[in-house]
Amino acid sequence: MSLPFIGIPTHNERSKDDLAPPSYVMRQAYTWAVEEVGGAPFLVPLLSDKTTLRALYDQMDGLLLAGGGDLDPARYGEAPDPHLLDVDVLRDRVETIMTQWALSEGKPVFAICRGIQMVNVTAGGTLYQDVPSMCPSSITHMQRYRPRHYRAHTVEVAPGTRLHKSLGGSRIQVNSLHHQAIKDVAPGFVVSARAADGIVEGIESANGKFAVGVQWHPEVLAIEDTAMRQLFADFVEEARAYRAQRLGFSQAA
Ligand code: MN
Repeated sequence: MSLPFIGIPTHNERSKDDLAPPSYVMRQAYTWAVEEVGGAPFLVPLLSDKTTLRALYDQMDGLLLAGGGDLDPARYGEAPDPHLLDVDVLRDRVETIMTQWALSEGKPVFAICRGIQMVNVTAGGTLYQDVPSMCPSSITHMQRYRPRHYRAHTVEVAPGTRLHKSLGGSRIQVNSLHHQAIKDVAPGFVVSARAADGIVEGIESANGKFAVGVQWHPEVLAIEDTAMRQLFADFVEEARAYRAQRLGFSQAA
C-alpha cells in the first residue's frame, strides 16, 4: 500500500513589496520529520472555497497542524489583548474547518505549538492571549535569542497517556517558543503534559481517537532525539491505519 498522506496547512507571508501577492509558506522541519518516519507530506494552500478544501482534506490520512502566529481571540469569544501578535484569519479559517472535520471523523491529528491551541479552541477551549503578562509566576516560555532546538524547560508527562507511551518517560526537556498557552482545556480532552509552572504543554483526545497536541517543537528536536521522532512515527502509523481502513484494506495489507 502507498504511503499515508499527511496534510500540513500553510500560512500567509506578505511580500515586502505591497504590490506583490503574498505566498503560502511552511517551515521545512515539519515535512522533513514526517518524511523521515514514512509519511508523504503535502502543503495545503489557504483556499476559500469549502468544496476545494474538502477535496484536499479527503486526500489526507492525517492532519498536521504546525506552529505559527496567534489565533484570532474572537474564535474563543475574547477581544484582542494588547500583547496579541500576528493573526492570520485565512489560516485560522482553513485550520478550523479541517480540524472540525478531522475531530468529528476520527482522522488522526498531530498538533504542534499554535496547533495545540488550534485544536483546543476548535474543540471548545480557551487560551491565555499572553502568558508573561497574564501568568506572573510563569517561567520563560519564549526562548528569544536561543536556537530553536535549545531545551528551555522541563515538562512532566502524565502516565497512561499516548504522549507518555510515545516519549517513553515522565520528565523531559523541551524547547519553548510560545507566548500563548491553553487556559480552559476543551471538553473531551485531557492534559497529558505540564511545565513546572502549571502551563499546559500537552493535550490529547479522551475518546480514543488520535488527536495529540504538544506546546513545544518536536520537529526541530527529532533530528537528534529518537523520543521526539517517535511522536511523528506514532502519528504516521495512525495515519497508515486510517488509510488502510478508508481504502478498504486490512491493516496487514
Ligand atoms: Mn513552554
